Amino acid sequence: MAARRHISTKARVQLFADHGGRCHICGGKIDGIHERWDVEHVIPLELGGADDPLNWAPAHVACHKAKTKKDAADIGRARRVHARHIGAKSPSRTPLPYGRKSKLKKKITGEVVPR
Ligand SMILES: [Zn+2]
Repeated sequence: MAARRHISTKARVQLFADHGGRCHICGGKIDGIHERWDVEHVIPLELGGADDPLNWAPAHVACHKAKTKKDAADIGRARRVHARHIGAKSPSRTPLPYGRKSKLKKKITGEVVPR
């Protein structure tokens, strides 16, 4: 996980005001006395989001947790797509049944013979 910048109390207060004291995920008001909230990354760092105020927004802890769970799936997918894109994906070790790399071949008559 990437290192995150420390967000000062002053910056949190400013961010809270900028977003009208609303959770950017559910849009509900954040009651700072009775509810815990986080400053979260709108675009996750792992998906190329910036670690700066433009990408920060307040969110309820519960909303943040749910979003993180959903983001984890997107991050995993981005990682797999990237690996395939740069050609780093290891070749499949299980050949297609009766394919060219299989030890068996299926003749046009349907007979299965060793290759
Ligand atoms: Zn919320």
